[in-house]
Amino acid sequence: MTPVELATTEAPSSMLCLQGQGVVRGYAIGRAAIMSAAALEVAHYRIHPRDADAECDRLRQAVARAGNDLQTLIDTLPADAPREVGPLLEVHRLLLDDPLLTEQACEQIRERYYNAEWALTSQGQILVEQFSAMEDEYLRERSADIRQVIERVLRVLSGTTSLLSNPEAVADSDDPLIVVARDISPADMLRLRGSRFAAFLTDLGGPTSHTAIVARSMNVPAVVGLGHVRSLVRDGDMLIADGFSGVVLVNPSQQVLGEYRARQAAYLAERRDLASLRDAKSETLDGVSIKLEANIELPEEARMAVEAGADGIGLFRSEFLFMGRADLPSEEEQYLAYASVVKAMEGRPVTIRTLDIGADKTLDGEVTVATNPALGLRAIRYCLTKPELFSTQLRALLRTALHGHVRILIPMIAHMHEVRAVRQAIEDACRDLEARGVPYSRDFSLGAMVEIPAMAIAIEPFVQALDFLSIGTNDLIQYTLAIDRADADVSLLYDPMHPAVLRLIAHTINAGERAGKPVSVCGEMAGDARMTRMLLGLGLKAFSMHPQQLLDVKKEIRQSHTNDLRMKVAGALNRAARIDLDELSA
Ligand code: PEP
Ligand code: MG
Repeated sequence: MTPVELATTEAPSSMLCLQGQGVVRGYAIGRAAIMSAAALEVAHYRIHPRDADAECDRLRQAVARAGNDLQTLIDTLPADAPREVGPLLEVHRLLLDDPLLTEQACEQIRERYYNAEWALTSQGQILVEQFSAMEDEYLRERSADIRQVIERVLRVLSGTTSLLSNPEAVADSDDPLIVVARDISPADMLRLRGSRFAAFLTDLGGPTSHTAIVARSMNVPAVVGLGHVRSLVRDGDMLIADGFSGVVLVNPSQQVLGEYRARQAAYLAERRDLASLRDAKSETLDGVSIKLEANIELPEEARMAVEAGADGIGLFRSEFLFMGRADLPSEEEQYLAYASVVKAMEGRPVTIRTLDIGADKTLDGEVTVATNPALGLRAIRYCLTKPELFSTQLRALLRTALHGHVRILIPMIAHMHEVRAVRQAIEDACRDLEARGVPYSRDFSLGAMVEIPAMAIAIEPFVQALDFLSIGTNDLIQYTLAIDRADADVSLLYDPMHPAVLRLIAHTINAGERAGKPVSVCGEMAGDARMTRMLLGLGLKAFSMHPQQLLDVKKEIRQSHTNDLRMKVAGALNRAARIDLDELSA
């Protein structure tokens, strides 16, 4: 991700173009506000040997103070704070308590006479390197937590309270401010909430980093993984952040600024126009009613689903309640989270997927040893080997079913015996609740993700045995084409339009139609408005997507004619030919 000097036709400009990963869509134009990074500014000096004990005490006191501050933050978390922030703060609290950090740093103070800041950063670096070298992506990401915890202690040691490195430099700016940081900890994200920041830019992080997750729940454009943005940008620099492409322009020329202002205005106007569709019917020109539901990862995103006019939640990825924390969520915690979604959806159906852990999503502390985790002990395969963990989740879901229409969705099913094992586990969970006298309801639907080709090919018994199906195209494409969806080297071969993938989708939809069982698509394809007509042509009547995409898809639906589309798509499918999306919109 090296910066590239852009050629421009204008008078010399110092514009830089940086490429990162856009993780929250939208454009922001504003002045850079650099976040302080004590770790980058720390003084290194040697102390007198006789001061070693006092220096160790200074470090321990700073660690204790940072820990207390974190605890206060945890105890006073605002009710509307993103749900994942609490567990992330707990992880930081645990890291601060770890003697590997403080006591090993004290050893460096006593043996090498480093000052406390130097000893702490040096010990931190050792731990960061150990974590960064780990195979497991999730554990690798923990190195970010260590850096953030150290940053917190260094701030205490230096007496800094402001999050910005030079707040005066941007205090008088009339332009919106764009936060530029090496990384932003969940605790700092909390402090930044409610401020007038228009975007977040960070050197570190990826789409599943905490900055990305929290920025998404705050709906603020964000670009992460920029490499060196913090060192290349100065306070007050003019910035353009493009949350779609991940491009960041530093000190753009007037011409480029003008272009982006126009793009931003067009995007906002489009959003406003689309907003008028919120209460419009989701119906095609030939009167076919199409269900539009939302995918969410955190309970508070249910609010976004309602605001977008979703007919329900088509996919709640429950694994996000389990990730980024040192412990497992209890039955009560899960129940409260699921019930809050059901309540927020005010009677609309809520599809909660049971834990889909494995492949690129792992639990804290679990090291994957499988040579190919995407084909390994993932999702339902994992849950069936952990009866207590699975039963805890099922009990929480059965209790949630008391409050509204709950659809339990099982990921990665390939065998009928797995469906039977799930039914048995649900029976056992019911019995547990009865024995404890805890109220629950059997009034729920049970469905499965269609994401393994074997299931799609031999779909009939599954349609009979289940109440509904949801096609997970992200994985269905990965497993059909033998493309690891997390491997950038083969990403060009990841082809949603491959005729084999479309035949599997069509086969599943047709089987559902014949059996009178609902079938939806909840993979990324469902939210891509360019594919809406094709999916309608395949006979799809229920789409589930990120709430931000819902109105774009609704707009396409309202301009489509399903009869025409079904004929065109069927012709291509029979010939196993590629479908030309442009032809469908003609
Ligand atoms: C899918 O596979 O299409 C899906 C929706 O699930 P996930 O992306 O969480 O694997
Ligand atoms: Mg999947």
